[in-house]
Amino acid sequence: MYNEKLEFLIDGEWAAASDGRSHPLINPATEEQIAAVPCASAQDLDRALEASGRAFLRWKKTTAAFRWAVLSRAADLIEARKPMIARTLTMENGKSLREAEGELQFCADATRWYAEEGKRAYGRVIPARSLDVRQTALKEPVGPSLGFAAWNFPAGNVTLKIAAALAAGCTIIVKPSDETPGTAVAIGRCFHDAGVPGGALNIVFGPSAPISEHLIASTIPKKVSLTGSTPVGKLLQKLASETLKRCTMELGGHAPVIVFDDADLDHTVNVLTAAKYRNAGQVCTSPTRFYVHENVYEKFIDRFVECSRKVVVGNGLEDGVQMGPLITGRRLGMMDELVQDAVSKGARLALGGERIDRKGYFYAPTVLRDMPDGARAMNEEPFGPMALITPFRSFDEVISRANSLPYGLAAYVFARNGSVATAASEELEAGVVGINHTSVHEAETPFGGVNESGYGAESGAEGLEAYLRTKMVTDKRI
Ligand code: NAD
Repeated sequence: MYNEKLEFLIDGEWAAASDGRSHPLINPATEEQIAAVPCASAQDLDRALEASGRAFLRWKKTTAAFRWAVLSRAADLIEARKPMIARTLTMENGKSLREAEGELQFCADATRWYAEEGKRAYGRVIPARSLDVRQTALKEPVGPSLGFAAWNFPAGNVTLKIAAALAAGCTIIVKPSDETPGTAVAIGRCFHDAGVPGGALNIVFGPSAPISEHLIASTIPKKVSLTGSTPVGKLLQKLASETLKRCTMELGGHAPVIVFDDADLDHTVNVLTAAKYRNAGQVCTSPTRFYVHENVYEKFIDRFVECSRKVVVGNGLEDGVQMGPLITGRRLGMMDELVQDAVSKGARLALGGERIDRKGYFYAPTVLRDMPDGARAMNEEPFGPMALITPFRSFDEVISRANSLPYGLAAYVFARNGSVATAASEELEAGVVGINHTSVHEAETPFGGVNESGYGAESGAEGLEAYLRTKMVTDKRI
């Protein structure tokens, strides 16, 4: 049973859409409608804007210790409600319950991290050129903020924005993905029930383009944070430029993996298959282009295919399921197109490459070998359970091929030789690099892309900094 009541949070009240508009919410594992998502009208959005502006005047005056107490309670509530929220998350997004619970634990950890880090929004005293002057650089909250979040980590993507903004003393309006609204509502209830005052956190849903245009055009918010695709990032940055709002852009990726010939192959394959099929490959940091040294190429493929074949696909609510469906039916067509294009350009299908014949948007774990660099999948973010494998011969060659796309989010290196691995990590155009593992995002570590994967970071000290601005006060004794 889907248990979340879908409603907006505006000015501290849970509310229905003022004009009653809604659209259906579909469970991707069953294709059944499970709820109706309310759509915000211009009037709803204006109420949220006005409330976040008003609440900012009070919230920015609270102490970091007060905000720590509120956020710590929110983290405890997320942890306590984990089993319940995980079911909602799985029914909306499709990932397994185990993955959903892991994501929610990350949310609790990240909220605690930001609660603590809010106490460390230090400024600095800068030695002055004269003894009767004191120069102080102060950190202030940047202002009311806007957060737009993707559906692939329905809890994590919204929590990182809410917790960072609130810890820094900002208020925030969140527009989560309409594919996964109940998870965002459930997370919102944790913050609301923990004592976040009315207007400091607002949540709205509805058609993305008009909502983002309306919210970003307002002069009330001073910051935009997006977790989403690169095309939407470019669009929102243009909109934000009209009022010169600061942006954090967490955008798409196309992660290269370099497997050198001295890598521990069993470890490498185990780690990479787990990472590849996590959330059915719908992860911005998903290992995607596998560059494998020619000396271990056949061995790697054999083992990778063997492990991929064992992945248990099904409804994430069922015991033992490791990989769920794709988020929408449209994505199945995209997977087929990418496979056909790759094969027509010379790639060979080693596994999968087809939909699974059952209700729900299921696509088989897919391994394509001998991928030509010009295939569409090697250049467009596939965002699905698809491993694209190609051989390489030399260090310089592989670095240049790995760096050939405009993206620069995650990259991975597998090698026993530490010098080679370090050299590769230094050369790769990426915001985060994993050496011999793929866990590149923790609550305490900065996470973000470079180039067309965006800029700015979430998590770590940088994640708090993103919601702060600097005020320089120079004070002359008279
Ligand atoms: P998307 O770009 O379609 O939507 C992201 C969010 O932007 C949604 O909440 C959507 O409602 C909102 N949005 C605002 N204005 C919009 C507009 N005019 N048109 C469309 N959406 C608008 O992305 P998605 O399909 O939800 O998520 C998948 C993408 O997100 C992938 O590219 C993935 O790599 C990326 N992603 C990046 C990170 C990261 O941290 N870098 C993390 C997760 C996902």
